[in-house]
This record gives sequence, C-alpha cells and structure tokens, in this order.
Amino acid sequence: MAGADEMLIIQTPEEMQRWARERRREGRRIGFVPTMGYLHAGHLSLVEDARRRSDVVAVSIFVNPTQFGPHEDFSKYPRDEARDLALCRAAGAAAVFLPAPEAMYAPDASVTVDEGRLALGLCGARRLGHFRGVCTVVAKLFNIVLPDVAVFGQKDYQQAAVIRRLVRDLNFPVEVVVAPTCREPDGLAMSSRNVYLSGEERLRALGLSRALQAAADAVADGPADAEAVRRVLRETLEAHALKMDYAEVVDAETLVPVAQAARGHVALVAAYCGKTRLIDNRVL
Ligand code: AMP
Repeated sequence: MAGADEMLIIQTPEEMQRWARERRREGRRIGFVPTMGYLHAGHLSLVEDARRRSDVVAVSIFVNPTQFGPHEDFSKYPRDEARDLALCRAAGAAAVFLPAPEAMYAPDASVTVDEGRLALGLCGARRLGHFRGVCTVVAKLFNIVLPDVAVFGQKDYQQAAVIRRLVRDLNFPVEVVVAPTCREPDGLAMSSRNVYLSGEERLRALGLSRALQAAADAVADGPADAEAVRRVLRETLEAHALKMDYAEVVDAETLVPVAQAARGHVALVAAYCGKTRLIDNRVL
C-alpha cells in the first residue's frame, strides 16, 4: 500500500483511470470517497471507513457545477485545496482526484443519468436537476476511479438511496457503503456549508438536529400519526427561526411519505438558516 507521503494528486480522468487499472492489475481493492472538498471530520470518517474495506483509497475533490441550480452557491462554495490535500494525506489516501471542470465535461456533453423515483421528492423537488447532476457525476467518477467499494455519508440520505439505485439499475460493479453522520458535540451535522453561518446562525442551526430528536421522541413509545410528527419537526424549526424547506417522515427504502410514523422510518429536514440551506436526517 502506498505510504502516506506518496499520495498522488491526479488531475485528468485518463491519468486516474491509468492509476486505477494499475492498482487493479496488482490485485488491490480500490476504495473511493467522492467529495466536493472543504473537508471536515465527516469526510475523513468516510476515508477511514474506505481504508478498512480496501487496499488503496482514492478521494475525489470536485465541486460539480451540474448539481447546483442557477441561483445556488456554486461560485461561492468554500474551497481550500491545500488544506484538503494535507487532510487526505494525513488520513492515508493513496490518491486524490482533483479535476478541473473542463477535464470532466466536454463543452457539448449531451449524456446524463436520471433516477426516476427516489430522486423526485425531498431535495429533488426543491433543487430541480440536482440529482441528475449527482447521478451523472457519480457515474462518471465510477468509470474514472474504477472503485470496488465507494463510501457515502448518511448525512445525504436521499443521495445515498439514489446512488444505491443507480448502482443496482445500471449494474455498476461497485459496493456502496453508507456511513453514519458525523456531528459536532452539540448535535449539528458537520457540513462544508456550516462555514457560512454567523455565530448567531450557528446556534439557530441546532434546530435541525433538535427537530429530528423531537421526531424520534414522538415515536419512541410506539407509532404516531405522521402529520403530528411533521408538525413537531416544523414547529421545532420555527422555534429556532429557521425557514423550513421541507420536513418529512418517509419509508427508509422507498422514501415515500408515511401516514403512521414509527421506528425505522426516516425523518428528514431541510431549512434555511439565514441564506444557508442546511439538511439533516435521522432514522427514527
Ligand atoms: P460533500 O463534500 O458535501 O458532497 O460530501 C461528500 C460525502 O461526504 C457525501 O457522501 C456526504 O454524504 C458525506 N458527508 C458530508 N457530511 C458528512 C457528515 N457530517 N458525516 C458523514 N458523512 C458526511
């Protein structure tokens, strides 16, 4: 296995594929962690998980323009390449794939990948085209990095479900692993976007994890009317002066909203804290 100081930085798909083919020829199992950079402990926990499941880990750092809507934060998405590379090196990544957007998309690129069921609700309904961008870039990254196993975070629950479906329905020879959400000590889910929050917003942002806790409490003693649980979610967000984008309780596999909420269902929230859109979820 490549030593920590030998981490390769690879900028083109061709070079990345060459690296991956060489590793595979050596009989090594490739682990893969796709990210948009500005890495935090949540990302690093995925790298650690991938290391346990593979021989060499590749991390991609690519702020994918096609998964951002026209009025979203693509241009101001936080970036710190030098810091990210140091963190990847310290975490024991063997290679970092860091492509320029032009290396990923031909100007006349005309093939996209769509998931037609799980991607329709929740973030898919609020961010039109988002999951097309995600599915397309993940399919491309899988063809570029040729991983045996890819690790995603539960933080993006719907994204993980969509990617599992993508892998199943298009027969990607990739094992998909979904790792738990890393949180700050007070419960806030770690996110690159947390850097946008002012001190006061950072406190109000706790409303998301508190809302999910309240939803879990509501079903702790048995099933409850899902509308009542959604109300608890909404009211907790409002009590923290967060502007709700959605608050749902869904089936863990189909992501279809449930009528009776119970343990094993998933509560998901998206809310604006000032201008920053935050998401979180919890299996009840
Ligand atoms: P991003 O860079 O935000 O696109 O995230 C890259 C990967 O890291 C995705 O699989 C995310 O679900 C995962 N991730 C983001 N935040 C967390 C977190 N707090 N805990 C665990 N995984 C996370």
